[in-house]
Amino acid sequence: MVHGPTASLPASPSTERPLPAPAAPKDLPAVDRLLRDAAVAPLIAAHGHALVAAQARELLEAWRAEALQGRLPLARLQELPAALRQRCEARLAPNMRRVLNLTGTVLHTNLGRALLADDALQQILACMGSPNNLEFDLARGARGDRDSLVESLLCEITGAQAATVVNNNAAAVLLGIAALAGGREVIVSRGELVEIGGAFRMPDVMAAAGARLVEVGTTNRTHARDYETAIGPATGLLMKVHTSNYAIQGFTAAVDEATLAPIAQAHGVPLMTDLGSGSLVDLAQWGLPAEPLPQQMLKDGCDVVTFSGDKLLGGPQAGLIVGARQHIERIRKFPMKRALRLSKLPLAALEATLRLYLKPDRLTRDLPTLRHLTRPVAQIEAQAARVLASLQRALAPRFEVRVAAMRGQIGSGSLPVETLPSAGLAVAPVLDGKRGTGRALDELQTALRALPLPVVARVQADELWMDLRCLDEGEREAEFLAQLPALAEALR
Ligand SMILES: *Cc1c(COP(=O)(O)O)cnc(C)c1O
Repeated sequence: MVHGPTASLPASPSTERPLPAPAAPKDLPAVDRLLRDAAVAPLIAAHGHALVAAQARELLEAWRAEALQGRLPLARLQELPAALRQRCEARLAPNMRRVLNLTGTVLHTNLGRALLADDALQQILACMGSPNNLEFDLARGARGDRDSLVESLLCEITGAQAATVVNNNAAAVLLGIAALAGGREVIVSRGELVEIGGAFRMPDVMAAAGARLVEVGTTNRTHARDYETAIGPATGLLMKVHTSNYAIQGFTAAVDEATLAPIAQAHGVPLMTDLGSGSLVDLAQWGLPAEPLPQQMLKDGCDVVTFSGDKLLGGPQAGLIVGARQHIERIRKFPMKRALRLSKLPLAALEATLRLYLKPDRLTRDLPTLRHLTRPVAQIEAQAARVLASLQRALAPRFEVRVAAMRGQIGSGSLPVETLPSAGLAVAPVLDGKRGTGRALDELQTALRALPLPVVARVQADELWMDLRCLDEGEREAEFLAQLPALAEALR
């Protein structure tokens, strides 16, 4: 049945407001007329004619469709310029946005892993809008090598003879295997055939690098003699992989680098270790669980060590490869290196981040990753107590909020079994019979993610947990508080 917009509507009950007068398609202005509207002029001045005209066309089309169905109130027409502005702003809003990480996981892969230090941000700003000496030797006035921007720093910090950098640690492992053992055999313990997220599995990486995987030992126990008996004329590499995202416990045995190095050397085969997270300072000095250091691996006799730039190191995404000069040279000259090389943007950030390690006693202040990891629980608790009343006010009466002890994580597969004692705000729904706990928590999480500065928290034990470890005091905390009225509004 086709009828006019108001023709056969039932009479409204007296308690409801009368339906607003609907607009007809002919009431809508033409695109040109809308663009000549005085209220639209500032928009065109800001963004140019093309974008605004395209958005005006789409907006008018959408409204016309509503008018055809009699669903566009006539009064809405005066909101056209404002609607157009909103549409243009939405079109221009970046997809990548800042969020507040209240998950309690410091190196959250889904939230961008390590935050860059101020020095790294400054270096990006200083060098990226200008020509720079990426591959230009200013002393000699000749072509240079981009690796040289960070190589001496990496050597100084780790004690390596040479170093090179690529796009990420996955690329470092792939390149290392391909360059040192392509077409040959790589010996790895069955307890170390790891899968890290995103389909990066050691056996598949071997195949992609053109090497043949030779598994030795068992899942829980591998001995030095297992490696020794597997070494033959086709062996290209002995490889150790740090089991960064899981732990094998109980009746276990693994061969450490210090034991394996002389075996590798006796057979003239290089030993490579994939450390994964690669902290450059001993975390135990702050009471954190210790991670193996690249410098120790080199001392123990590894020829090549690979690790990530954006895990515990606290820098940009990058894969760092350090070790003996002859092997690093082979890796650097391997053709695949060109396809995996680090671009100038992360390189600028990496150099500035590594330079912070020259002042090790300032790291917990200057490097956000270490600042967050070493925050005293008492300080986080005090912050939670400070924020509590404002959050209670915003969430009442539907949710109850309390300060709670929590356990967070380092993240990015680092130290998976260890948790970080932390503190934060636990939010529990006040059940009103209308929605279950799950529904209420979903709604709360959705509202938090829809805030201008989205908040990411986690659900634990039928509560929403906001771990405050990564909420820097000062500006970040103020931003969190400033959004609470909007949160209250969204949940009304
Ligand atoms: C994280 C990790 C990688 C991959 O590093 P990316 O920098 O993410 O590419 C490889 N190996 C191990 C053991 C890891 O922990």
